[in-house]
Amino acid sequence: MVGIALDKVTKRYGGTEVLGAVSLDVRQGEFVAILGPSGCGKTTLLRLIAGFETLDDGAIRLGEREVSTPRFSLPPEKRNVGIVFQNYALWPHMSVAGNVGYALKVARLPSAERKRRVAVALETVGMVEHADKAPAELSGGQRQRVALARCLAADPSVMLLDEPLANLDVHLRASMEREFVEFHERTGATMIYITHDQAEAMALADRIAVIDHGRLMQFARPRDLYREPENEMVARFIGNGLVLPGEDVSLLSPGTGRAMARVFGTPQTLRASARQPSFARAALSVHPDDLRLAETPGEGFPATVERVIYRGGHYQIDFHPNASPDLALTLNAPIDRSLAPGAPISVRIEDGWVIPAAA
Ligand code: ADP
Ligand code: MG
Repeated sequence: MVGIALDKVTKRYGGTEVLGAVSLDVRQGEFVAILGPSGCGKTTLLRLIAGFETLDDGAIRLGEREVSTPRFSLPPEKRNVGIVFQNYALWPHMSVAGNVGYALKVARLPSAERKRRVAVALETVGMVEHADKAPAELSGGQRQRVALARCLAADPSVMLLDEPLANLDVHLRASMEREFVEFHERTGATMIYITHDQAEAMALADRIAVIDHGRLMQFARPRDLYREPENEMVARFIGNGLVLPGEDVSLLSPGTGRAMARVFGTPQTLRASARQPSFARAALSVHPDDLRLAETPGEGFPATVERVIYRGGHYQIDFHPNASPDLALTLNAPIDRSLAPGAPISVRIEDGWVIPAAA
C-alpha cells in the first residue's frame, strides 16, 4: 500500500474549470472520504487518480512515483489502483469466483495463484460460500462485496471507491458501512471513498476532504470539520450547520482559543483559533444542538418560534431572532417544553466557533 499525493491538481473540460488547484496528502493506509455536493468534481478527481483522465495542471504521485503531470500520464493498468463503482458492473454470465478472478485470468496469472488470490479475496469479504453463484442470485449488498473482492484480488496499492453504497437501501448501507470499516482495518488499504452523504463520510473516514465547485474547502478529521470549520461553506454543509453574525469579536486572553462576541446584542463566549485576531465582525458556526432555550430571565437573545416539529425524543423548534427576522434557525428542545408558533423565547448559545476565513 502507498500514499497518494495530489499537488495543485487542475482539470478543465472545454473552457470550464472542474477542479481548481486541489492539493491533498493521503497517508499510506489512511481512509479518506471525499465529500461534496453532486457535480462538485468528485468522480473527476477519482478518474484522474486512476489515470482515466489527464490533468491540465499540477501533479499526482502514488507513493514515490509521479503518475500524472500535464506532460505525462502513466496508463491506468500500470498504476495498480483498484476501483469500486456504485453500479457493481459484474459479468452476469460468470460465477462470483469467475468475476473475482477475471482480471487475473486476463493478466495470465498461473491458475494456482489465481485460485489462491480469489479464495483469499472471497474470504476477506465473507462470500466464500457464494463462490459458485451467479450475480443474479445475490442481494445488492452481496454484489457490492463481490465487487470489493474483485478489487482486492488484483492486490492494488490503493483503492478508490465511488459512491459504492449509493444504490443500496438505508438498512443495507448501515451494515455495509460497518463492513467497510472492518475491511479497512483488516487490509490496511489506502482508501479514497467518494460520497455526497456526510453521515457516511463521518462514520467511515479518518479524514474528510470537503469539495465545493471543484475547490478544496477543508481537509480534516470528522470532528474538526464539525467543531472548527474553516469557512462558511463547511460550517453550513456539515451537521445542519447554522451561521450567525458576531460583532465585536475579541480573543479573551491570547492563546486560549476562547473569544467573546456580541450575538444579536447579547454577549457570548465562543471557541476560536488561538491565532484568531480581534474583529469588528465575524461569522460564527453553531449547530442546532448548541442552541438551548434559556431558563433564567435575561439570559440569551430574544427570538420568536415559527414552527414546532415533533421528532420523537425531542422537539425541533424553528425560530428567528427578533433582531434578525429573516434568519431561519433551529434548535432541539426537550419534550417537556411545549411551545406554539409565535411564542417568545430566549435562546442561549452553549457552544460556537468563530469561523476564521469569514473574518
Ligand atoms: P461529482 O462526481 O462530484 O458529482 P463529476 O466529477 O462527475 O462530479 O463532474 C464535475 C463536473 O464536471 C460536472 O459539472 C460535470 O458535468 C463535468 N464533467 C464531468 N465529466 C465531463 C466530461 N467528460 N466532459 C465535460 N464535462 C464533464
Ligand atoms: Mg460522481
